[in-house]
Amino acid sequence: EKVPKEKDPSFSQMIEYYYHAAAQVMEPMMIKELEKYPYMKKEQREQRVSAMLKLMGSTTNLLEVTFPIIRGDGRYELITGYRAHHTRHRLPLKGGIRYAMDVDADEIRALAYLMAFKTACVNVPFGGSKGGIRIDPKKYTAQELQTITRRYTMELLRRNMIGPGIDVPAPDVNTGEREMSWLVDQYVKTFGYNDVNALAITTGKPVAIGGINGRTAATGRGLFKAAECFLNDKDWMDLLGWKTGWKDKTVIVQGFGNVGSHASLFVVEAGAKLIGVQEIDVSLVNENGIDPKDLMDYYTKNKKSVKGYMKAKEKSGSLLGEKCDILMPCATQKVLTAENAGSVQAKMILEGANGPSTPAADEILRKKNVLIVPDMYCNAGGVTVSYFEYLKNINHVSYGKMHVKREQAMINEIFNSLNSADKGKDKFKPNVDLERIRDCTREADIVDAGLQTVMETAAEGIKQVANEFALCNDLRTAAFIYSILKIFRALEVTGISQ
Ligand code: GLU
Repeated sequence: EKVPKEKDPSFSQMIEYYYHAAAQVMEPMMIKELEKYPYMKKEQREQRVSAMLKLMGSTTNLLEVTFPIIRGDGRYELITGYRAHHTRHRLPLKGGIRYAMDVDADEIRALAYLMAFKTACVNVPFGGSKGGIRIDPKKYTAQELQTITRRYTMELLRRNMIGPGIDVPAPDVNTGEREMSWLVDQYVKTFGYNDVNALAITTGKPVAIGGINGRTAATGRGLFKAAECFLNDKDWMDLLGWKTGWKDKTVIVQGFGNVGSHASLFVVEAGAKLIGVQEIDVSLVNENGIDPKDLMDYYTKNKKSVKGYMKAKEKSGSLLGEKCDILMPCATQKVLTAENAGSVQAKMILEGANGPSTPAADEILRKKNVLIVPDMYCNAGGVTVSYFEYLKNINHVSYGKMHVKREQAMINEIFNSLNSADKGKDKFKPNVDLERIRDCTREADIVDAGLQTVMETAAEGIKQVANEFALCNDLRTAAFIYSILKIFRALEVTGISQ
C-alpha cells in the first residue's frame, strides 16, 4: 500500500509516510545485518531494529513559544514561533528558520524530519531540525523584524534549543543574510564572551561576519548539479527517451525566491530555456525564453514581485500543468497534489522546495514515468554549503586567496621581526609552501568544487540503491533507503542510549 489513507495528509504525515515506505523495505535487511552479533537472539534483533526505526522517525523536541512585541506605532502584538529537533542521532542538528503565515507545529516538525534524512543523504554530519515564526514579513518594518528575530533567538537560547554544538539555524523561506546577522549578533553579545565558536551559531551569514562565498546561491546551484547527475547520464536519459544535456530543454519554475531564481540562472546558463515563472501573485510565460538575470534584477527592484515585467506575458493561475520538459517546484510544500498531478506534462521534476509533492501526486507522477529528483537530495546544496561555512567557523579559517594573502603578510611580519631581533642565529623559516599558496583559488571555487563532489557522491549512492531495489521510477524511496542506511550504521555502533 503506497498511498496514505488520509485524503489530505498533513505535511508531517506525508513525510512519515514516505519514510515508512522506505523503512519497510529496509527492516528485514537491517535485522539480517545484526546476525553478525551471535549473542543476539532473533527476537532481540527484531526489537532492536524496530526501536531504531522508530527513533529515526521521531521528533525529540518541539517548542512552541509565544512572546509579545511592541510595534512601531505602539501596538502590542503576540508572536508565535517554533523550533523542532528531529531524532538526535547526530549533533549538532541543522535546519533553517522560515517566516510565513502557514508556519505551525506540524509544518516545522515535518521539515525537521526531512532535514535529518537530507543531511544523511549528502553525508553532512548533522542531525535534522527546523524553525519558523508565524508572520507575514511583508507586514513588518525592518526594525520590527529585527526585534522579533532577536527575541525569538533569546527564547531558543534560554531553552538550550540552539547553540554551535546543539542546533545551528540557517535561512529558509523569507529569511536570509539579514536575519542571520541579527541572530548571530544576539548570540555573540549574549554568550559570545564564553564561546570561541560563537560565529558557528548559524550559517547563511554575510561573508563579512563569517559567512562563506556561494552560500546564497548554493541551493539553486545544488539543484542544478543534482539535475546534471541524471541529465548527463545516458542510461537515465534513455529511460525518458531524451538526449543527454540541457540544450533546448524547456523549463518552468514555480517560485522565484532564492532557490528558484538561482536554479533558473544555472539551468539557463547551461543551455536550457526558461519558458515560465509562476509566482504567488502572477505567472509569466515566454516561449522564446525568459532571462533569469534580468528578471532577478527586476524582482529585486520591484519589491520582490515579478508583476509588471514587460519581457514576458502575464498569466493568472498555475503553470504546473503547462507543456515543458522540466518542472522546478521551488516554492513550498504540497503544491503537486492528487488534483493536479495528472495534468503535469513535464517528464522531469526537480524538487527545489521541501515536500512539494504529496504521496498521492507522487504515485500519479511515477505511474506516468516522470523522473522526480526528490527534495532531500535535490535541494541539499544549501545545507551542504552550510556545512562548509560551519567548518570555516569552527576551524577559524577562511578559504582561498584572500585568506592566504593575509596569512602571508602575517608570516612575513613575524619573519622580519624574528630576523631583526635575532640576527645571525637560526633564521626563522615560514613553514608554508608559498608556491602552493600562490595557486590557491577563490573561496567560491572551493565551495563549488566541494558541492560538486558531494552531489555526485550522493547521486551515485541513490542510483545504486535504485538499481538494486528496482526503484528507478522512485528515487524518493531510493534516497530515503540510502539515508536510512547511513543513520542505521551510526545508531548500530553507538547503540540506543537510554
Ligand atoms: N533551509 C535550508 C534547507 O531546507 C538550509 C538548511 C541549512 O543550511 O541548515 O535545506
